[in-house]
Amino acid sequence: MSTLEIRDLHVSVNTDEGAKPILHGVDLTIKSGETHAIMGPNGSGKSTLAYSLAGHPKYEITSGSVTLDGEDVLEMEVDERARAGLFLAMQYPVEVPGVSVSNFLRTAKTAIDGEAPKIRTWMKELNGAMSELKMDPAFINRNVNEGFSGGEKKRHEIVQMELLKPKMAILDETDSGLDVDALRVVSEGVNHAKETTDTGLLLITHYTRILRYVKPDFVHVFVAGKIAEEGGPELADKLEEEGYAAYEAAAA
Ligand code: ADP
Ligand code: MG
Ligand code: MG
Repeated sequence: MSTLEIRDLHVSVNTDEGAKPILHGVDLTIKSGETHAIMGPNGSGKSTLAYSLAGHPKYEITSGSVTLDGEDVLEMEVDERARAGLFLAMQYPVEVPGVSVSNFLRTAKTAIDGEAPKIRTWMKELNGAMSELKMDPAFINRNVNEGFSGGEKKRHEIVQMELLKPKMAILDETDSGLDVDALRVVSEGVNHAKETTDTGLLLITHYTRILRYVKPDFVHVFVAGKIAEEGGPELADKLEEEGYAAYEAAAA
């Protein structure tokens, strides 16, 4: 059983005009097997939260704490966070020219496990994850994300999650830009990875539709850099009907 604890997190982003405060005190606790959805309007700071957890250098933690099973995450380098069991699927996955999907995934797996996977079981696992996410096996020889469609990039993120078996996964708008079929495939992949590894999940999303496939235990409304309200799955239905306007007005 793992616990990710975010306490009173304040974050500024470094811009050309100086540091700009974005997160204003985020509190969130995620345990193994739990699915938390963060929903909020554009520009509310959802990706800033994801990048801060990942250790992106542009985002400066001005106060607060993040721990994974009591270990200080904010003290860890990016690769240490991955080894500790944190996984981030970014809103805009980057291309990695000259690095094949196969090499990329194997290198990541080796770094996280501390030893290279046995080639035979690895190929089986890799092909299994690819087929589960309905990705053509030919993709393993292509360069990471180069020329991938939006949906293919998102599927590749979930292939990574499936193979790396993180303790905690943060998925930043993995559902954005997916058609209904791709959304179902990605959701099934997420659910499968969750079931097999008891991963704690933080699902950042703009829309309620992914929550029909990946059932949240908790829903957090994120407005103006903090959590404005928390509830169960019924809160997502309320948001679908009423939108964020009332929360935005209250935060203004
Ligand atoms: P969301 O993911 O909820 O749409 P973001 O975290 O991407 O929100 O952005 C929150 C705010 O921080 C926005 O006003 C955005 O313009 C600003 N911001 C985020 N990252 C940067 C950056 N690297 N440079 C300048 N401003 C940024
Ligand atoms: Mg956005
Ligand atoms: Mg975002």
